[in-house]
Order: sequence, then structure tokens, then C-alpha cells
Amino acid sequence: MIRIRLKKNKESILSMRHPWIFSGALDLHHQVEDGAWVEVVNRNDIVLATGHYQNHSIAVRILDFGPVSDRQILYDQRLTEAYALRKRLNLIRTDSNIYRLIHGEGDQLPGLIVDVYGNTAVVQCHSIGMHQDLNLICHALSQIEGINQVFDKSQDTLPTQYRQTIENGYVVGDGSIKDQLFENGIAFNVDWEQGQKTGFFIDQRDNRKLLGDFASGCTVLNAFSYSGGFSMYALAKGASEVISVDQSEKAILWAEDNAQLNGFQRHQGVSANVFEFLQEEDRSWDIVVIDPPAFAKSLQKKHNAVQAYKRLNAAAMHKVRPNGLLFTFSCSQVIDRELFHHTVISAAMEVGRPMQILFNLSQGADHPINIYHPEGHYLKGLVVRVG
Ligand code: SAH
Repeated sequence: MIRIRLKKNKESILSMRHPWIFSGALDLHHQVEDGAWVEVVNRNDIVLATGHYQNHSIAVRILDFGPVSDRQILYDQRLTEAYALRKRLNLIRTDSNIYRLIHGEGDQLPGLIVDVYGNTAVVQCHSIGMHQDLNLICHALSQIEGINQVFDKSQDTLPTQYRQTIENGYVVGDGSIKDQLFENGIAFNVDWEQGQKTGFFIDQRDNRKLLGDFASGCTVLNAFSYSGGFSMYALAKGASEVISVDQSEKAILWAEDNAQLNGFQRHQGVSANVFEFLQEEDRSWDIVVIDPPAFAKSLQKKHNAVQAYKRLNAAAMHKVRPNGLLFTFSCSQVIDRELFHHTVISAAMEVGRPMQILFNLSQGADHPINIYHPEGHYLKGLVVRVG
């Protein structure tokens, strides 16, 4: 395996156990191929870490803090451990068979996402090194109970220069067998081939359940609904009327399809831009959900994103009936919890109604946060009572 030495004054960084090594920490005088497995050593040639290399500011994504003698065993162990954790958390049941099996750094496999939909695992690799290990990953997946089909969707997530080198498709099975999917007893159809991300926003499971707890008899506006996740929970728990709004027509068709699948009446899908919908619609709801896509994907865009979040939150607050609830979210990694809170607070100031924060929300436990990689905490949410 290729060895790379750390700069003398950088040897201590690995004791922080962050799973990335930046290029500036490496004493690198030769070219290393993107995706190669590398051992990172100190000046005494002791292996401090093993990982995937790429010619980027994040130069090494660490797979283990030590030498790795067998790559297959590493993947087998990581996936078995991840599965056991989800099982222990009671996230894999006959009435709930949608879960995230691997959450990158959170499961000690930086660059890898695996979402499971019944018998199908959908894989998204974020680094070329991870994609080159796809066979090892598939072999490890073959040992996981219930999975007999693997769809590779990495064309959407690999660094841009590699996207044309691969195509999305089945690497195990052919898509002919699809289990009926459920989340907490509610049926969903998930189209991982055409859908956004891996097909479904699994990270919101607990928050959708919480909304269900308060939805009985309520009118609900689910803005940025995608396939209607929040809407279905509201309907299942007896909401009197639910509107799903998304600019994607496909998403609205899926939401309507999911309502039909469960036999829910009282659902209306609207394909529209949420900003315009909120401006034009002259009515209010008992519960309003806003779950926008990441407005800020880079630090440079942070300022504009904060302005957009503020505008959106203020507009949504105006649409909440007195004593109603606002469920507001941000999934931008560069907007941390504190900044998100401040943004919601400044929107509240603009609206000027009494408000109380009732819940602080986050991503589900199948999206664990590696304690040494706080960046892994990307989903923030607040439940606000609007007086
Ligand atoms: N709450 C959803 C996930 C939302 S993902 C769930 O629980 O499954 C964000 C969604 O916002 C996507 O479906 C995307 O199509 C939609 N979207 C992005 N910008 C939009 C806009 N300006 N108006 C309406 N929908 C938008």
C-alpha cells in the first residue's frame, strides 16, 4: 500500500480523531492516484491511519486509525456493526423497513451512504475511492439480513470529474423485486431510480412522527413536501385537511400516490414555488411545515442563504393560525444550529407575534454523528408555537 508521511508538526492532529486529513498536513512529494488506499505514517514509519486518497484539500478520508490488513473484513465489520446498531435502536421492523444503514463518517465509512428500502440497498459514493470499492461493499451487503438488491446511484454524488465515468444502475439484482415499504406503519412508494437523493428523506422520520402526535383535527400545510412524508403522518393521525406543496411535479404525483396507497382522503397536492405560494395564498393553517432544500451548499453562499431562510420563516409564521405550530427545518451543513436559531428568531421579530420554542429537532439515530466530526450534524429543526 502507498505510504504518505505527515509533516513533523502535524503528527498530533490524528489524536483529535477527525476522519479527514487536509493536504497541508501531508509531506507529499510524489503523485498519488485519486481513490488509492494509502497508509499515513509518522516519521518513525508507524501507521497512524489508513484511508482513501484524493487530490483535493480533503486529501485523505480515514477508514481506520491504524493499519488495515484485509479490506473486505473492514467493510464486513463496519456494515455488520451498523446493522446491529439500527436493529438495537428498533429501526428495522416489519412495519418500518426504510432506514439508513451507513451514514458516512458517522459509521466510520467517510464518503459512503447506504439507504435501505426493504430488500433494496441504494448506494451513493461521495469519493472515487469508495466507488472503486463497490464490489467489497456489495459483498458486505450480501451478508445483511433482508437485502438482495443493490442500486448504485453515485453518478449524482461523485466529484464532478468522475460523474461521466459511471452510470446509475443495479449492481446486484435488476429491480424486479420490490418489497412494500413502510415507515412507522405508513405505506410509501419510493422511486430511488428517479427520485431525489436516494429516493426518500429518511432523516425526517422522527420529526414526521412528532408532527403526527399533534395533527388530529388540524389543517396542515406541508411546504417543500417532496413525496408527502409529513403529510402522510398528519393524515394517518386524523388531520382534517392536508396540503402538500412542492415545485417538483413528480414529487407531488408521488405524494398523491402515497395518499392513495394508504387510502387517505383529505389530501391535496399543489405543484408550486413555496415562496410564491405563501405570498399568494390568503389563508392560514393550524400547522405549517417548512423543510426547504439546502440553500447554502458552500460558505460563500451562507449570507444569501440566511436571508432566504429568514424571509421564508417570516412568510410561514404569517400563515400559522393563532396558537398553531410551525415546524421549521434547515439541512444546510454550513448553517449551524446557533445560526439557524438566530435566523428563526429574527424572522419572529419581524412578524412580531408571541412565540415559544417547544422542540429542538435533529436527524434520526440512523444518521449518527461521529463525535469527532461535528459537521455530520446537518439537520436542524424547531417546533415553534405561534401565538
Ligand atoms: N419534507 C420532505 C423533504 C423535502 S426535500 C420529506 O419529508 O420527505 C426539499 C424539497 O423542496 C424537494 O422536494 C424540492 O423539490 C423542493 N423544492 C426546492 N425548492 C423549492 C421551491 N422554491 N418551492 C417548492 N419546492 C421546492
